[in-house]
Amino acid sequence: MSGLFGVIDTKGSSEGIAKTAYYGVFSLQHRGQESAGIAVNNNGTFMVHKAPGQVADIFDDITLSALNGQCAVCHARGGSDRETGTDAIQPILIKSSAGNIAMSSDSVILNADELRDNLKSMGAIFQTNIDSELILSLFSRNRIGTDSCEEALLKTMKDMKGVYALVLMTENKLIGVRDPHGMRPLALAKKGDMYMFSSENCAFDALDAEFIRDLEPGEIVSISKDGVKSFYFEADKTNEQRVKDGNVCIFEYVYVARPDSVIDNTSIFDSRYRAGQALAKEHPCDCDLVIGAPDSGNAAALGFADGLGVPYGMGLLKNRYVGRTFIKSTQEQRELAVRMKFAVLKTAVAGKRIAIVDDSLVRGTTTKHIIRFLKDNGAKEVHVRLASPEVKFPCCYGVNASKGTDLPATRMSVEEIRDMIGADSLGYISLDSLRASLDGIHCGTCSACFDGNYVAGQEESSDSVHNVEYN
Ligand code: SF4
Repeated sequence: MSGLFGVIDTKGSSEGIAKTAYYGVFSLQHRGQESAGIAVNNNGTFMVHKAPGQVADIFDDITLSALNGQCAVCHARGGSDRETGTDAIQPILIKSSAGNIAMSSDSVILNADELRDNLKSMGAIFQTNIDSELILSLFSRNRIGTDSCEEALLKTMKDMKGVYALVLMTENKLIGVRDPHGMRPLALAKKGDMYMFSSENCAFDALDAEFIRDLEPGEIVSISKDGVKSFYFEADKTNEQRVKDGNVCIFEYVYVARPDSVIDNTSIFDSRYRAGQALAKEHPCDCDLVIGAPDSGNAAALGFADGLGVPYGMGLLKNRYVGRTFIKSTQEQRELAVRMKFAVLKTAVAGKRIAIVDDSLVRGTTTKHIIRFLKDNGAKEVHVRLASPEVKFPCCYGVNASKGTDLPATRMSVEEIRDMIGADSLGYISLDSLRASLDGIHCGTCSACFDGNYVAGQEESSDSVHNVEYN
């Protein structure tokens, strides 16, 4: 899972492009903290600056002032087992027969191995094992014999099975692509002569740009000095049908996206709040205080407190400076990592019956430690409510979880999980109520990790997973 951003000035000005790119990708940092990069096109000369780490640590005034250009693509990368080494940091740049191209992708290509082998047999050489390089290689090959980049992209989309959003930059265009399933979000905005793509509209708000719309599933939006043009993977479908047939990842609403974002017509904050209200109806509990597991449990906790008519308060604080590099190989180290990450507000929880609302429970290890801390700090009872159903299936689309065997819900009852994490009670929202909380969404959702319905198909090797660290 990654954050994508792209910007082009349609009048060819380079004023503010690097800064816009920087603030755009900075706003998407929550989608990936492993590495980041910005590539710019300065009248056909491409330059890139990218490194492991977080956006604010990678760029400063000196690096940004060197990134002069009229167009930029950016990437903030989350963890993925396919992406290792600094060569794999995006954006990826190549020189093709059609000129320079830079691309950022948020993708899992299910037939990547087959496509890579085919390209290798035709002489292609790969420096990395990431999808971006594969997609660019495929695109370059398809560009030979097609009349335009867009035509080559449509051909590339036909070759690929999987889920993806792409933002790519040629020598005279900025192009955004959303896969035919619409699994990954991608939106379009405008500010003066600049057009922008972003994984989430929170970046547009930060830049004071005007949100235009989400890209439709299977849509290519191509922007140049000649204006904005759309091309469609399934040209025979109506726009309405294309949108209706889309299946955005439901975890965008549960956990991934920033609460101030709106994806496919549904506010992330509102949907989480409604899920909390529904949870209060499905699994009420006697408690004195409702708290959220920071940060993605907070909105649902507010809704849960509202639904129960019980006060909502702060009980846990999150230390934002704990990185993923923390060593966690032993039980003691794992516990220390959670203690470093969360602090309990003792005066708020001591002597109280606490209901804690979290976005999800995947492995349960973090939740177990949090319950211990709350009780160690005097909480009389700790009731856990989850704003998503039991995670029973691994995600093969790069969003969460690991192998099915790591998921307690595949082999344990709710009561057994309650016992394992040490909660006084445990309740999960139903999938129907979670779906209902996405009021106003204008497409379908993928909910495969709850119901096993892999709407975009699966890899041949069921062991293959593309995961980020999860609790
Ligand atoms: S399987 Fe779950 S996490 Fe993965 S894309 Fe589907 S809904 Fe999202």
